[in-house]
Amino acid sequence: MAQANIGVVGLAVMGSNLARNLASREGNTVAVYNRSPEKTDALVSEHPEAGFIATKSYEEFAATLSKPRTALIMVQAGRGTDAVIDELTKVFEPGDIIVDGGNALFTDTIRREKAVRETGINFVGAGISGGEEGALNGPSIMPGGSAEAWETLGPILKSIAAVAEGEPCVTHVGTDGAGHFVKMIHNGIEYADMQLIAEAYDLIRRGTGKTPAEIAEIFAEWNKGELESYLIEITAEVLRQTDADTGKPLVDVILDQAGSKGTGVWTVQTALDLGIPVSGIAEAVFARSLSSKPAQRAAASALPGPDSEGWNPGDPDAFIEGVRLALYASKVIAYSQGFDAIVAGAEQYGWDIQKGEIAKIWRGGCIIRARFLNRITEAYAENPDLVALVTAPFFVEIMERAQTAWRNVVADAARAGIPAPAFSSSLSYYDGLRADRLPAALVQGQRDFFGAHTYKRVDKEGTFHTLWSGDRTEVSAVDAH
Ligand code: NAP
Repeated sequence: MAQANIGVVGLAVMGSNLARNLASREGNTVAVYNRSPEKTDALVSEHPEAGFIATKSYEEFAATLSKPRTALIMVQAGRGTDAVIDELTKVFEPGDIIVDGGNALFTDTIRREKAVRETGINFVGAGISGGEEGALNGPSIMPGGSAEAWETLGPILKSIAAVAEGEPCVTHVGTDGAGHFVKMIHNGIEYADMQLIAEAYDLIRRGTGKTPAEIAEIFAEWNKGELESYLIEITAEVLRQTDADTGKPLVDVILDQAGSKGTGVWTVQTALDLGIPVSGIAEAVFARSLSSKPAQRAAASALPGPDSEGWNPGDPDAFIEGVRLALYASKVIAYSQGFDAIVAGAEQYGWDIQKGEIAKIWRGGCIIRARFLNRITEAYAENPDLVALVTAPFFVEIMERAQTAWRNVVADAARAGIPAPAFSSSLSYYDGLRADRLPAALVQGQRDFFGAHTYKRVDKEGTFHTLWSGDRTEVSAVDAH
C-alpha cells in the first residue's frame, strides 16, 4: 500500500486547504479522510496535482500512514473533534501523533491530551490562524504538546507555515493546551485591534465628514507607516468597496450588528479567572454584544445626548493624526494586556512560553500580523522578565508621543457622544497602571466596613480591621483569612 507521511481528517475549507498546502511541499505525501466521502472524492478529483491518497475508513487511513503516523484533524470544534479522536485512537499505536488544528478551547485540549497520552499516542493541540487563505498559502501555527511529538511534527509544520523575515511562523509553544491558549489570546487581541480600527473610522467619519472611500485612502496611507498591519490593510479594502445594488459604500448597507464565534468571549472569561485586566479585549467583545441588541438600541435611540452640533474637532488633518496616535497607543495596550494573560496562563498551567517567540510567529500568516511585532520580540529579548510590555523603552516612546492626542481624542469622543469604548478603556487602564495611588484604598475600606474583609496598611506589617461605628475609630490587628 502507498505510504503517506501525513494525513488530514476533515476536508471542509480549512482541512482541504491545509492538505493542499502540505501536498505542495517537497517530500510530503498526504492521505486524506472525511466523514462524508463525497468531500474526499471532490478534493482528490479537483486537485490531481496534489497526489492525495484518498481513504474511506479510519482503518484504511491508518494503514496508509508511515510510522510514526501523523494525523491533522480539521473538523468542527467540540463534539466533532472528540468523535474523530475516539476513532483515531482505535486505529493508531503508541508513538503516533494526533494533531487537532481546530479552534479548541485550551481546557478541552488539556483534557484530550491527558486522555490520549494514556494510550501512548501523542496529542498536539495546534492553534492555526490565517483563515482559509492562510491555510492554503501559509498560516501562523501555534502547536502545544510534547517535545517528542514536536520532533516529528516540527519540520512538517515549518514546511507549511507562513514565512516572516526568513523564519517560519511556527514554534513549539509549550505542553498540552499551551498552543490553543496562545491562539485564543491571539484572537482576543484581534477583537481589540478590529474594534480600535472601527472606532478610529467612526471618529474620523463623524469628525471630518469624509466618505468611506476617502477614509480608505487614510488607512492605506497609515499602512505604509508604523501601523502597518493586515487588519489596517483589509480595512482600507472594505471601506473602498461600493455596493453593486445601491451604488452606496458597502459599509453603509451592511447591518451594524457584529457577530462572533466565541474566542473573544473565551479570552475574557479566562482572563477574568486569571485576574488579568484585558479591558481592551473585553470592551471589544462587549461592543459586539451591544451592537447585536436591536430592540434595546431602538428603545434608547431617542435618549438625550450631548449637543454635538457645536462639536468642532478642529483642523481635520491634525484630528486624523490624533486618531492615528490614539489608535497606536491603544493597540499597544491591547497587546500588553494580551501578553499579561499569556504570562498568567503560563504560570497557572505550568507552560514555559517564550513571549518573544510568540510575537515572532505572529509576524506572518495570522490575522494580527503587524510591523510592530518585531519590537515586542526585541522587548522580551532585552528583558525576558518584563513585567508589562508597555513599560519597554520602545513602547514608552509611543506613549510619550501619543499622550496628548490620545486624551484629546477620548475627550472629543465623550463630548460628541461618539462611543469609543476601546480607546477610552485603554487610556483608563494606562492611567490606572501608572497611578502612584489608586482609590482601591477606599474600596478596601468599604469592604472592611460591610464585610470585615480586613485591609493592609502602608506603614505597618499585618492585617487590620476597623470597628467603623461610633465617633471613635478602633483599629485592631487581626489574622488574615
Ligand atoms: P467546519 O465547518 O468547522 O467543520 C466541518 C468539518 O467537520 C467537515 O469535514 C465535517 O465532516 C467534519 N465533522 C463535523 N462533525 C464530525 C464528526 N462528528 N465526525 C467526523 N467529522 C466531523 O470546517 P472548517 O471551517 O474547515 O474548520 C475546521 C476547524 O478549523 C474548526 O475547528 C474551525 O474552528 C477551525 N478554524 C477555522 C478557521 C476558518 O477561518 N474557517 C480558521 C482557523 C481555525 P462532514 O463533511 O462529514 O460533515
